[in-house]
Amino acid sequence: MAQAVLPAVRALTPEMVALRQRLHAHPELAYEEFATSDQVAACLQDWGYEVHRGLAGTGVVGLLRRGDGPRRIALRADMDALPIQEATGLPYASRIPGRMHACGHDGHTAALLTAARVLADEGGFDGTLQLIFQPAEESLGGARRMVEEGLFERFPCDAVFGLHNMPGFPVGHIGLRAGAFMPSSDTVHIIVHGRGGHGAAPHDSADPVVAAAHIVLALQTVVSRNTDPRDMAVVSIGAIHGGDAPNVIPDRVELKATVRALRPEVRQRLRERITELAEAQARTLGVRAEVIYHWRYPVLVNDAHWTGEVRRIATGWLGADHVMPDMAPLTGSEDFAFLLEQRPGCYFIVGNGLIGAYSQGGCMIHNPGYDFNDAVLPVAASFWVRLVREVMGGPARP
Ligand SMILES: [Zn+2]
Ligand SMILES: [Zn+2]
Repeated sequence: MAQAVLPAVRALTPEMVALRQRLHAHPELAYEEFATSDQVAACLQDWGYEVHRGLAGTGVVGLLRRGDGPRRIALRADMDALPIQEATGLPYASRIPGRMHACGHDGHTAALLTAARVLADEGGFDGTLQLIFQPAEESLGGARRMVEEGLFERFPCDAVFGLHNMPGFPVGHIGLRAGAFMPSSDTVHIIVHGRGGHGAAPHDSADPVVAAAHIVLALQTVVSRNTDPRDMAVVSIGAIHGGDAPNVIPDRVELKATVRALRPEVRQRLRERITELAEAQARTLGVRAEVIYHWRYPVLVNDAHWTGEVRRIATGWLGADHVMPDMAPLTGSEDFAFLLEQRPGCYFIVGNGLIGAYSQGGCMIHNPGYDFNDAVLPVAASFWVRLVREVMGGPARP
């Protein structure tokens, strides 16, 4: 792996690690990435980027032109942390109670910034490089807001690229897949409206508890009976709330579910069936189901051409044994899907190592013991530099 790291990146690695750990110690939640955004913008400005701020609040876009070529590509990093109490015990652990970089966005930001610096110092490409530092990747759709606020109209580009670290996958390895790579993620809120009463007189009430139980069971048939067995689909009910006392039938019960699919058609079908089943079950029991459906993140679809390019560059650089060219789809969802709805491109995985930092026991992202592996930084930064140079060709390094 060592030979894969570019010399300029290697020289900047101590600084990159220090930056990553500084970001880690000062995590900021979605749309509150004020200090992080300031720091990103100041660095880009220093290195000669044209810096634009304010998209989606704390978003930063940096533009760097070299030569007069027409090609324009965008690279994206996410900046937000999670509402988790850190439990790593690391010297640079979060200084802010209840907030933690538990998804490695500190690492994504540090790696892209370092690539930005090398590309500004050395060039080696011909065209316009566009760097997108987005807020609120976790749940709140910072990428969607940037798109809605005119990201691609103001800063047009031919293709957009993003990466994410993955614990359990070795450092120096890259994984990707053309087509649908990550499922959509939608949320359903079902409110069962009944008529409360005395638990000893159920005939004088309309019981939303029994109806909610029927709805929970009926929804299990959506995936098993209404979707093609070859299609991935998930309906999981994660919350059910209603009532307080054993002898009181409540007025209402609320259910919350997460719904995922890898094809837009399946996503639509799930919505239809969930709504129909919940309403019909409630009706047969004399209550009413109010179904509130939140379309959240769409299916993340990697473009075939650009995925082929990333695959080719990664294989040429790291060797075929370090690239998983046709990974199985992941089950998590990604805000980057909104960018890929607008522009073709590729989202790929970089290994975060087989052993996590948590007392060598290893753990996944979103775990209080997780830490981004600093050994990944030079790999990710080098890959960004190589990708830009390969895709936008141009003059060799001076
Ligand atoms: Zn996350
Ligand atoms: Zn993440």
